[in-house]
Parts: sequence; C-alpha cells; structure tokens
Amino acid sequence: SYITNHLPTAELQALDAAHHMHPFTTNDELAEKGARIITKAKGVFLTDSEGNEILDGMAGLWCVNIGYGRQEMADVAARQMLELNYYNTFFMTSHVPAIALATEIAKLAPGDLNHVFFAGSGSEANDTNIRMVRTYWAMKDKPEKSHIISRKNAYHGSSMGSGSLGGMTYMHEQGGMPIPGIHHINQPDWWAEGGDQTPEAFGLARAQELEAKILELGADNVAAFIGEPVQGAGGVIVPPSTYWPEIQRICDKYDVLIIADEVICGFGRTGNWFGSQTMGIKPHIMTIAKGLSSGYQPIGGSIVCDEIAEVIGSGEFNHGYTYSGHPVCSAVALENLRIMQDEKILDHVNNVAAPALQEGLDKLAEHPLVGGVNVSGMMASLPLSPRKETRSKFAGAAGTVGYMCRERCFANNLVMRHVGDRMIISPPLVITPEEIGTFMTRATKALDETY
Ligand code: PLP
Repeated sequence: SYITNHLPTAELQALDAAHHMHPFTTNDELAEKGARIITKAKGVFLTDSEGNEILDGMAGLWCVNIGYGRQEMADVAARQMLELNYYNTFFMTSHVPAIALATEIAKLAPGDLNHVFFAGSGSEANDTNIRMVRTYWAMKDKPEKSHIISRKNAYHGSSMGSGSLGGMTYMHEQGGMPIPGIHHINQPDWWAEGGDQTPEAFGLARAQELEAKILELGADNVAAFIGEPVQGAGGVIVPPSTYWPEIQRICDKYDVLIIADEVICGFGRTGNWFGSQTMGIKPHIMTIAKGLSSGYQPIGGSIVCDEIAEVIGSGEFNHGYTYSGHPVCSAVALENLRIMQDEKILDHVNNVAAPALQEGLDKLAEHPLVGGVNVSGMMASLPLSPRKETRSKFAGAAGTVGYMCRERCFANNLVMRHVGDRMIISPPLVITPEEIGTFMTRATKALDETY
C-alpha cells in the first residue's frame, strides 16, 4: 500500500496536492498544474518522474555543494545510525560526532570563532542568535542593549524570530512578524537602487544608514547587526566594495556585535570557507546550515567567538533543540567537510568552476533581456531588464518576466530560480566546465523563448 516512484506522475501529483502542504507555494496552482516530482539525483542532475534529466543550477536550495548521490555520505549515515542513532547534548552529556564536528568547524572558522551551538536549520540557528546576543548583553549588565538591526529584503529563515530578522515584508504580513526590537535598513542593491551614483558611493551611503539607525535607537540599546555577506534569497546582491568595511567600522565604533549569516555563503560558495573572509568581515557570530552538510542531513548552528561563549557559558543558557548536534547529522556534516578538503573543492571553485561560470554569465549578459551580472564565486544573479543601459525595470507587475523565464528554464530542464525579475544561480560547487556549458545552452534557449 506504500506510495512509490512507480505510480503514474498524475496520480502522485493528485496525492501531493491533496495531502501535502508546500512551503512558499500557492496550493491552487499546485492543484491545477501539479508539482514536478523529483525521483532521484546524481552529481548536478535531477531526474523527474517522467525520466527527464534536469540540471540543478540552484544546488537544491543553495545547499548541495558536493553534488548529489555520494556513496561516502550514505555509508557514514548508515554506520552512525547503527552505532548511535540519537542522543542529546543536554544535561551534561555529549557524543563523539558532535565533539568532532564542533572541533572541525572551529578549525575552519576564522579568528576566535571557536565555539559551536548546533541547531537543526538556519532558521533555528538565527533564533539562537537573537537569544544569545540579548542574553550576552544582559549578562554584562546591559539588558537594554537588545535591539537588532537587519536589512530590507534579507532572508534569515522562516520561524518567528528568524523571519523577523529577515526583511521580506510579504512574510511579515502573515502571522504577526516582526517580533519587537528588530529594525530594517536598506540593502546595498546598486543595480536596482543605485541610480546615477557610483557603486562605491552608493555602498558607503547604504552602510551609513546603519550609523543613522544606531544613533536613532541609541548605541546603548543596540545589541547586534545581522547581514548575509552576499544577500542570497533577496536576489544575490553582491555589495559594492565599500559596504562591508564601513559596516565593520560602524559596529566597532558603537560596540555593536556583528552576526554574519553564512547559511548560503559558508562552506565555499563565495570561493573561501566563509563569505566573511571574501568580504573582509570580522563577525562575532556566524550562522551556518545548508553547505555544512551539503543538504545530506538537516543541520545548522552558530559559530561563536571566545568572548561571547565565555560570558554565555558562565551561566545556564536556557535554550536548545532536541536535535542540536544530532549524531547522524553531525557525522554526515563531518564527512562533507572531509570531502570538501580531500577533494580540494575550494581550489576547484577558484581555479575552474567560478572562472567558467563568470565567462558563461558574461556571454549571457549580451542577451537583450539581461541587464547585468552580479557574481561572487559560485553565486550569481542576472537582473532582467528591457533596457540594460539604464538598468530599467519592466512595465507591469514586478516579477512577471522573471517568472516566465524561470518557467522556460524549467521546461528546458534547467533549474534557475527568480527573485522578482532577477534570475538567480547557485549550482553545486563541483560542477564541471562542460556542465556549465550545458547550463548556458539551456539558459540561452530559455531567455530566447522569454524575449
Ligand atoms: N539564512 C539564510 C541566509 C538563508 O538563505 C536561509 C535559507 O535559505 C536561512 C537562513 C534559513 O535556513 P533554513 O531554511 O535552513 O531554516
């Protein structure tokens, strides 16, 4: 009586629409068109229930960095399940997978980011961060230093806390977000909002909005600033070179902690282990998930600096998840980090994949529908525009052309998502130049069909 891959696609789609509520999806559209059922995956290719091979230009949701279907990852999961499938790390207990993973992450993380608080996801980790920075200041006798500044259009997760940190107004409109004490300043999106300013002047001006906000709230009331080194789900917005140094200066000046949300940027996406290294940020906390396990198991966490860990550790932090440091997830994440290092995947990114991606995107930028290219390592966006010279937006509802382009990509067996009228790209880090060639062929066809 089990439902299997062998059922006809239409039957699977009907059951899916009848019983399965999807994230960020209109159920009516699901019922009308039917979901595309993905049955298996290998390397950078997905296979659907009709046998089509789809090139996954998004690495799932920016996470399958080492590619799909790796035997070593399955072996480690099976071994760990038999040895110790579950135990927690509450109440003075621990286990080897969590110890080993925390130690390895501390080794890879820059500076004095030497401590890891595990969570099941990026959202959970950002909820941890809200409570941790507020608790930190309270334990330093500054309980009023509790406000957190984030950015419009940022994505930090979907829970009440992390969704409040995020700056997606369409999320805030549902269910009573943001929670109190969270503020949003403008994002450093030069392509869409920079007008006639140079990217450098614009980046500086956008960073200085942080100083204005801190002064408005009072520096004694501001606990932290949170930002993705390169904004991902907001449309892959690579900030101008002036932006992060100015943010760093301002946070240092007013004793405001920096939380770098590395959920997408971490573990190689921008060509370094962490996006903070690419952007020259010195964070006090980094949020991690996704590429930590390449999506083979759900796991996230907060990498915390010595000072915060010492203060928090001097009392009981009344916070934690049943699956904090889950042994199978930890063992799998550790194997992922071993593969990343043994196979020198960062070298592959920097010497092979990122240059090939950049070259391909530069060619795509010549297409009349493409208004520009934003790229940092293996994450990129192509803003679509009716007139690239003026970076103009399309008449009519924002996102209509982007949606059409995404549909044409999918029809041509390519996953390239859209955020509004911006196409976004984040393939597995192991993608080869030949596969990038296939990406470009399919993307060009989709753009031609959208034009
Ligand atoms: N932070 C960033 C930067 C993200 O991109 C995401 C997810 O896309 C999250 C946090 C939330 O992670 P999760 O979906 O694992 O809860």
